[in-house]
Amino acid sequence: MSKVTMAYFLNSLVNNDSRYLMCFQLFLERSSEHQCMKDFIHQQLPHILDSVGDGKSDLNVIGVGSGAGEIDLEMLSVLHQKHPGLMVDMEVVEPSSLQLHSYRDLVSKKPDLDYVTFTWNEMTSSEFEERWKLKRSTKKADFIHMIEMLYFVKDPGATISFFQSLLNKNGKLLIILASGESGWGKVCQSYKDQLCCTDIIQCVTTGDIKSILSTKGVNFHSYELPSQMDISECFIEGDEKGELLLDFLTQVQDFSKTASPELKDGVLDLLRHPDCSVQSNGKVIFNNTLEAIVIAQLN
Ligand code: SAH
Repeated sequence: MSKVTMAYFLNSLVNNDSRYLMCFQLFLERSSEHQCMKDFIHQQLPHILDSVGDGKSDLNVIGVGSGAGEIDLEMLSVLHQKHPGLMVDMEVVEPSSLQLHSYRDLVSKKPDLDYVTFTWNEMTSSEFEERWKLKRSTKKADFIHMIEMLYFVKDPGATISFFQSLLNKNGKLLIILASGESGWGKVCQSYKDQLCCTDIIQCVTTGDIKSILSTKGVNFHSYELPSQMDISECFIEGDEKGELLLDFLTQVQDFSKTASPELKDGVLDLLRHPDCSVQSNGKVIFNNTLEAIVIAQLN
């Protein structure tokens, strides 16, 4: 009898914009992802943005990987409360046309944004960087944020350096990513080589970013954003929502159907392991803790 070896090809979730969005939407519903960001935005961001408007008549803001804009608008409202007299010029950098469309839709429904002028850049951060350099633009930014997006760039350190070079005096750069101590960090550590199936999706956490910054001698502040995600459905065989959540957790399209049984069992075991999750009232609650890193431009 000949032995047949099955080949398993994993396709990155980022190659399928509409499935990615379905997974992301469900992730938002099952986690406190946006709530923990909103808590940070209302409790910490006002202090962080205190000095960005000093001596200015308007503010330049750049949002990189803004998604559907919900978090961006929350930050804009805090910026406006801090600096009510200032107009805001907002560059949105977002490659997904579906996401950009939702963002524009959201803006059109908000009557109180007349202090903001939006420029829509449907492109990746590296395309934005190329264009910026071609234009030889000397424009500087007072506030730049990249929230949950550095996973999608080839070289997170170089991306941070470029945007940091755009900061005005007193400007601030805000990065939010999964904490190295979160369940995401553990999955990354254990399965990086097997799950990162393209060079555009990185297993990167704030732990990596902090060591890149420290090596370069860049000063920063960091803030922990505790957050959880209910992943119980991942353990119900054949559950449609569980499969979407698993795709999101592994960043692999149709993970349940395309991963080898060994990889699938290994990932499922790790997801419910105490390193990643706690069991509570019959639910499996994954550690989704995020971390915010703030870099200030002092001169
Ligand atoms: N900041 C939003 C969305 C996070 S999801 C929030 O926290 O809710 C990550 C976003 O990054 C997606 O909208 C995705 O389209 C975008 N993205 C993916 N690759 C990117 C790249 N190379 N440059 C900029 N944005 C990117």
